[in-house]
Amino acid sequence: MSDCLFCKIGSGQIPAKVVLQDDEVLAFDDTNPQAPVHVLVIPKRHVVALNEAGAGDQALLGRLFAAAAAVAGKKGIAESGYRVVANTGRDGGQSVFHLHLHVL
Ligand code: 5GP
Ligand code: ZN
Repeated sequence: MSDCLFCKIGSGQIPAKVVLQDDEVLAFDDTNPQAPVHVLVIPKRHVVALNEAGAGDQALLGRLFAAAAAVAGKKGIAESGYRVVANTGRDGGQSVFHLHLHVL
């Protein structure tokens, strides 16, 4: 998706403070943090939201959650605790329509 903000971050076209990444997943600091730690975890491939994640995306969803846990470890909040949130759709507060997990 050429006009998608998170696709551009995922491909490195737009810079971000990367926390971790692998071939499918990227985690980076949110530019408008709502907590002392606020990291976004995205698939590098464009998926609009949970609603559009099909049966073939289940492994990817697992990798996103595993990356969220790895982010918590890397940021030093694994023991103290954190939330993982996926805002979905307009009424769910989603503003960027490329699937992402918030780690807060
Ligand atoms: P949503 O509201 O869609 O669940 O979350 C989108 C998040 O993306 C917001 O927390 C917002 O602060 C963050 N965000 C928006 N634009 C940028 C950007 O250019 N870079 C980064 N790192 N985060 C962004
Ligand atoms: Zn995208």
